[in-house]
Amino acid sequence: MTQRTFGQPATPRPDKEIQRVLVVVAHPDDSDFGAAGTIAGWVDAGLSVTILLCTHGEQGGFDDTNREQMPAIREREQVAASAALGVKDVRFLPGHRDGWLEPSWELQRQIVEVIRDVQPQRVLIQSPERWYDRIQASHPDHLAAGEAAVRAIYPAAENRYAWPELIERQRLEPWHVNEVWIMAHPEMTHVVDITDTFGRKVAALQAHASQTGHMSDQLEDFLSGWGSGVADMFGLGQGRLGECFHIMDLG
Ligand SMILES: [Zn+2]
Repeated sequence: MTQRTFGQPATPRPDKEIQRVLVVVAHPDDSDFGAAGTIAGWVDAGLSVTILLCTHGEQGGFDDTNREQMPAIREREQVAASAALGVKDVRFLPGHRDGWLEPSWELQRQIVEVIRDVQPQRVLIQSPERWYDRIQASHPDHLAAGEAAVRAIYPAAENRYAWPELIERQRLEPWHVNEVWIMAHPEMTHVVDITDTFGRKVAALQAHASQTGHMSDQLEDFLSGWGSGVADMFGLGQGRLGECFHIMDLG
């Protein structure tokens, strides 16, 4: 177990202590904007990564694509984006409307099911806390997905009396998550240097053509501006690119 003093930010465990990672986000493209470079690095380090989407993101986009077609389009785009990072396990939860996500008991139970099935040591989520300085990162669905994920991680996933039918009917035994990485948190405590995986981050976001196609050539500049701002903030050095997180250690 990692030793630390309360009040000090947690630092992540070495990747070699982690075998499986679960990423939980509200919409297709969320994990790619926030963490594609980091996720690509985890894949390179041999970690098995599963991405779970709470909605199909049918409210996204900037053109008049028929909204009934959007769920299938965005599902295909997320699968392609994840493939660019080397992630093959991409799952979508049924029954949640984009823009209407709530940290409901149903959403929590669905996330608990996936946690117990995947058995991740590390889970990457969106912040349940609103970041007022960057309100776009704190879309209400992101807050809801983050809140539901935190509640699912602790206590429900590790408590056998939470939804006992998961054990009785589906043989999904309790599972303890060791570490949570939070994107778009108001207090960022950890940076990952993504300079070497940045090209795959760009490829992943290009795969979300319904969301990024209108940016065309500016997409890469936009992402590198963002990454170098993070690198500067954490002192990674000239020409480096970063992604940053708040880390929770659950022992
Ligand atoms: Zn989103």
